[in-house]
Amino acid sequence: MQESIKYIFVTGGVVSSLGKGLTAASIGNLLESRGLKIAMLKFDPYLNVDPGTMNPFQHGEVYVTDDGGETDLDLGHYYRFTKSPLSKASNVTSGQIYETVIRRERKGDYLGKTVQVVPHITDEIKARILRATEQEESTQVLIVEIGGTVGDIESLPFLEAIRQFRYERAHDCINIHLTYVPYLKAAGEVKTKPTQHSVQALREIGIIPDIILCRCEKALSEEIKAKISLFCNVPQEAVIDEKDVEQSIYEVPIELHKQGLDLMVCKKLQLSYKASDLTEWEAMLQKKFHPKSILTIGIVGKYTEHQDAYKSVFEALYHAAAFASVKLEIRSFESDRIVENGSVDKAIEGCDGYVVPGGFGTRGWEGKLLTARYCRTKRIPYFGLCLGMQVMLVEFARNVLGLSEAHSTEVDSNTPDPVVNLLTEQEGIFEKGGTMRLGAYLCEIAPNTLAEKAYGKKIISERHRHRYEFNNKYKELFESKGMIFSGRLDRGVLCEISEIKDHPWMLGTQFHPELKSRPLHPHPLFRDFIAAAMFRDCETIK
Ligand code: GLN
Repeated sequence: MQESIKYIFVTGGVVSSLGKGLTAASIGNLLESRGLKIAMLKFDPYLNVDPGTMNPFQHGEVYVTDDGGETDLDLGHYYRFTKSPLSKASNVTSGQIYETVIRRERKGDYLGKTVQVVPHITDEIKARILRATEQEESTQVLIVEIGGTVGDIESLPFLEAIRQFRYERAHDCINIHLTYVPYLKAAGEVKTKPTQHSVQALREIGIIPDIILCRCEKALSEEIKAKISLFCNVPQEAVIDEKDVEQSIYEVPIELHKQGLDLMVCKKLQLSYKASDLTEWEAMLQKKFHPKSILTIGIVGKYTEHQDAYKSVFEALYHAAAFASVKLEIRSFESDRIVENGSVDKAIEGCDGYVVPGGFGTRGWEGKLLTARYCRTKRIPYFGLCLGMQVMLVEFARNVLGLSEAHSTEVDSNTPDPVVNLLTEQEGIFEKGGTMRLGAYLCEIAPNTLAEKAYGKKIISERHRHRYEFNNKYKELFESKGMIFSGRLDRGVLCEISEIKDHPWMLGTQFHPELKSRPLHPHPLFRDFIAAAMFRDCETIK
């Protein structure tokens, strides 16, 4: 008999930014380490249909899935911690739920009825839970993260829906509540009251957590756990602390495992599990904790002040650095300030390599162009991601080809030399949401190139999120002066990778390789970029 699918609902209390996504991803990681096949789903309570139209300062990075979903950055954690299938079905917002229900109402599907939050919105939420389990046939456990904090008005329909879902499948669901247990310096003690209140708020909705995970600075005493247990109606052994990790977010699964979280989840859900195997994960951490040298990489972008705007780029760099046994220091440079500073050398000097990540709009271009020129002329490794490749091409056009006014038409629609211009398929598209060139496309790699050296194969698949591309009219001119187009759209003409001949490592991609790097499998281009940066002088730890 086929076992029924099990569901784990992860809610958050007290404050936001507790790392609910990381926690959900860590639970997924631990269940996979016990041989279980999991899937993940993130509910976001905001009304945007997806985060694609939000400013990175508001929301952080937009994580793109193979099928072109523009999703929450927590899906990036899911990708890096687990092998969960990820698609548009893995991230659902209130905007999507309401859009579906309202469209149905207009069609007349609810004819005669008053359309309401309960049951129509909650039914749609429940349908989306089931849909997330259909991404892959063999899914045994679905982990559902509810965005927001318990007590928010916005997340109420999601909480009501998971209450109903559990009522309908009592033996197949558990609720894990992530909360915050602060240490009050003045009182010299940790406080459980915020946790009590947030669990109380959950109980009012009809949800009683099975496990409480307590974010805290230091491990909690048994006394504190007993108090939380008593007030929150949860057995003491199910009050688990999730204290701040010392060095790396990838320690979280190990810490939770040490306290028996995965075993407890398996038992509560009556899952048939194997002994856990975290050997590879632990070996990766050991390597990360014992670097042999230090390397400094500069990131030049315009969203550097938001810590999550380039989340996957940072992580991909860390994966590659750990693989190479180097300790990575990342220095962020706000591209506008490079121009204000007057001297690019002074503004950004001192790094072993530079990354220019993706971006949109006019602001920040000049600083990025100066960075590309600095790296090209000083032969410093440069890695351009999407916009970073477009910058590299414009800089080359201006300073090597002598096309002094060359630009991308995204910035200057009247440029005499539009070396980067709008994709033909984008002409006539005016709606902003979900209309870019999105998701995975196959790319053919040219022989004897840095790209071939990195990937070691001819056809690759990478994810995209852009409207502009290299203008092929200029291809021969670029090639005649040493630009190599080392990746092109499979059976197509679009230029996907470019690299500069006779430079140690200056490469740009129209796609976003950072989205497909994992701690156990660093992305090959990031791996080679870090290797190239290491080849320069790097300080050795004594
Ligand atoms: N703004 C550029 C484009 O749309 C680059 C996009 C990006 O970096 N993701 O083509």
